Amino acid sequence: MKKRLIFAAMVKEVVLSGIRPTGFLHLGNYFGAMRNYVRMQDEFNCYFFVANWHSLTTHPDTKELQANVLRVIAENIACGLDPEKVALYVQSDVPQIAELYLYLNMMAYKGELEKTVTFKEKVRLQPENVNAGLLTYPVLQAADILIHRAVKVPVGKDQEQHLEMARNYAERFNHRYGEILPLPYAFNYGGELVKIMSLDGEGKMSKSENQMNTLYLADDDDVIRKKIMKAKTDGGPLTPNAPMPAYIENLFTLMGLVSSTDTVEKFRSDYNNSSEGNCIIRYGDLKKQLAEDMAAFIKPIREKATDLQKDTATLQKIMKMGAEKAGESASKTLTLVRSAIGMNYY
Ligand code: AMP
Repeated sequence: MKKRLIFAAMVKEVVLSGIRPTGFLHLGNYFGAMRNYVRMQDEFNCYFFVANWHSLTTHPDTKELQANVLRVIAENIACGLDPEKVALYVQSDVPQIAELYLYLNMMAYKGELEKTVTFKEKVRLQPENVNAGLLTYPVLQAADILIHRAVKVPVGKDQEQHLEMARNYAERFNHRYGEILPLPYAFNYGGELVKIMSLDGEGKMSKSENQMNTLYLADDDDVIRKKIMKAKTDGGPLTPNAPMPAYIENLFTLMGLVSSTDTVEKFRSDYNNSSEGNCIIRYGDLKKQLAEDMAAFIKPIREKATDLQKDTATLQKIMKMGAEKAGESASKTLTLVRSAIGMNYY
């Protein structure tokens, strides 16, 4: 009994998460996902990957996609991921995922896939390219997770529904073939999943949409200043302790992420003590302060990522090492899955 307890304490929980190489990484990626990755790498058995298969749903330019993959690897390391501690790999280097995707597709139904929020959004955005990959995107994502039998998935709020679907497929698989796949859950250290809104407070920061209102980890100091100074504000609160419009709340949220507590408190108190004809809060000062703190926050990440991208050979070595670690774990799961389905003939 004692031995079993010691063993259980030694086995680390498996963590998985991925980022699509569809553009430059931004503050939403950092605070929604990568900040957690970095904290988790010491505590858990972590698999982090660049989701290049997922990005094919929008038919990206081949050369651009290749460059994006290397940059995402570099940006992850620049944010603090240690490729020696985690498996940092590219999705297409682990073909076992595609086989599990095939099996899980048999557990997924057209009606529920069509109802997925992200699918409906994509249909709206690219009506000329509603391909089957787009429809079964959540199934491939389930395969990404379940191939390592991961239980914790550090993602932003936008991924909650996909996680629920991954649990459904795992449960259906287990019900039919036996308890093989543990159920994965979205994870964030703060408890609540994070959603970083764009600078105009409308929609979330994103790699491809609303670029002037998104802060990228590759933006230089001047671009950061320009974007923040252009952020939407208004004439100020009309009564003390007035409810905050979303675009102002958003500036405070961003400040909370990169500025000191004293700074945030000062501006919050200025806001709460302002009223019509007595506007203490100066949005210009708030944005200036936020821009300086944001620039100081992004600068070291940008510089490290730029340096890393100059050395393709090292990045390739890191990707290979990650693919080996991930391939080993994926093969183990696939052996269990195949034998459960009866696909083991020899
Ligand atoms: P994607 O950029 O869609 O490949 O997402 C990569 C990771 O970043 C996922 O875990 C997302 O949940 C997270 N993420 C993307 N955009 C945001 C955002 N605006 N706020 C918080 N998390 C985000």
